[in-house]
Amino acid sequence: MQTYDRLFIGGDWIAPATKSMIDVISPHNEELVGRTPEAKEADIDRAVAAARDAFDNGPWPRMTGPERADVMARLLALLQERSGDMATTITKEMGCPISFSEVGQVMGTFMMLDYYIRLAREFAFEDVRPGLQGPCLVRREAVGVAACIVPWNVPLFTIMLKLAPAMAAGACVVIKPAPETPLDAMMLAEAVKAAGVPNGVVNIVPAGREVGEYLVRHAGVDKVAFTGSTAAGRKIAAICGEQLKRVTLELGGKSAAIILDDADLSFTIPSLLPAIMMNNGQACVAQTRILASRKRYDEVAAALTEVVKAMPIGDPLDPMTQCGPLVARRQQERVEGYIKIGRDEGAKVACGGGRPAGQSKGWYVEPTVFVNVNNQMRIAREEIFGPVVCVIPYDSPQDAVKIANDSEYGLSGSVWTADIDVGLGIAKQVRTGTYTVNGFAMEFAGPFGGFKASGIGRELGPEGLAGYLEAKQINLPYGYEPKI
Ligand code: NAD
Repeated sequence: MQTYDRLFIGGDWIAPATKSMIDVISPHNEELVGRTPEAKEADIDRAVAAARDAFDNGPWPRMTGPERADVMARLLALLQERSGDMATTITKEMGCPISFSEVGQVMGTFMMLDYYIRLAREFAFEDVRPGLQGPCLVRREAVGVAACIVPWNVPLFTIMLKLAPAMAAGACVVIKPAPETPLDAMMLAEAVKAAGVPNGVVNIVPAGREVGEYLVRHAGVDKVAFTGSTAAGRKIAAICGEQLKRVTLELGGKSAAIILDDADLSFTIPSLLPAIMMNNGQACVAQTRILASRKRYDEVAAALTEVVKAMPIGDPLDPMTQCGPLVARRQQERVEGYIKIGRDEGAKVACGGGRPAGQSKGWYVEPTVFVNVNNQMRIAREEIFGPVVCVIPYDSPQDAVKIANDSEYGLSGSVWTADIDVGLGIAKQVRTGTYTVNGFAMEFAGPFGGFKASGIGRELGPEGLAGYLEAKQINLPYGYEPKI
């Protein structure tokens, strides 16, 4: 059992304002794995005040990029020492296979922090341009206090998508982890303290939705960075619009993988499988619509069904497991609800569709392939957020692009072909923020984010850093030479 009885505020472990606790329940065996305090409004007030004080009066925004990078490097080294424990904790909290936890949840998070450490060292926070009256000094100053609200599916990773660029920029943050996954965030807090990050720069307060919304509305917050559902994103965007707060939204997806007729299926299908089923299908970037030409439809559907059927399901701490349980009973019921909707709409279950045999406990759903799907069905339009994939036929590559784009979302996608030029041509036509030819990748040096209802703004790359900066021009008298 991993138990915390305090919140991380102002660089210290602080007793919470109330006795309210969050119980973290194992999705695998439904046993208690840990507890943390549940932050309430009074705790948010204290966390925002601490971040405000650190930003308005503390050293952090006044340090140089390389000075901040040194502190971030200490944080990275401390996190790396605990990488195994962090992967285990995340798997216990939310049920993803340990093999995914080690690589996708933890190693990816550290690589991202490393990227922003390097960017903080070399980024030009100031430059001088010739102006009308004299030199124009352009400064990129930290945005202020950022509220970072994250989901449970990739908890540490989505925190770092915000924390790393915010720290590089000199901003101060209040992080609100999801109530399903507060434990890994508390481990992060321990590392933040041990790394000597100045007090108040990072505050961590696990809480539910209502308290999250209180944080969004808080007058002491300058920017909101949110990852989560499109429904919650719309609400948060409306509040930020009203208050003219800066906001970045990373929301849902329903991404399409286009398999062209010249694709080698013996490479394509096994390479595509992780992009469909990673994290037990609970990934915003999951490729949940597989577009196959009518000519090869049956062949693609059969090959996909074969690899999905062969996925080992079970205890997520077992290194052989490829599909673990869903995060909560409500998520299991939601996914089962969509499987019923798919059947009622006339789609056919090629494999899966039920609960795996031999799992008497835990919130499991079998990895499921739907065939005979058309793009107007709800299972092809709505984000299911579980191990469920639809195979949809197309008539021509142009038709495939049209189907890929016929979605409310635009987050990720891929094309599979023997001709890379053709693949690149398709990549340019699909309206989504991240695209890969013959693979599935997310580059830390490139911008990540959504077109359409998948979000506003970008994380990762220099674009992610820009989300925590305000640009300012200072015009100076002719002949003056500013030192930068
Ligand atoms: P969710 O929107 O229910 O919750 C996400 C977080 O926001 C949680 O911390 C929650 O407590 C908080 N929250 C919810 N409503 C809020 C409100 N009105 N004000 C303030 N905070 C609020 O989402 P979820 O079910 O936890 O996560 C799954 C969703 O996240 C999926 O839709 C998935 O696609 C999306 N997601 C997107 C990305 C991305 O980068 N685009 C990455 C991961 C997950």
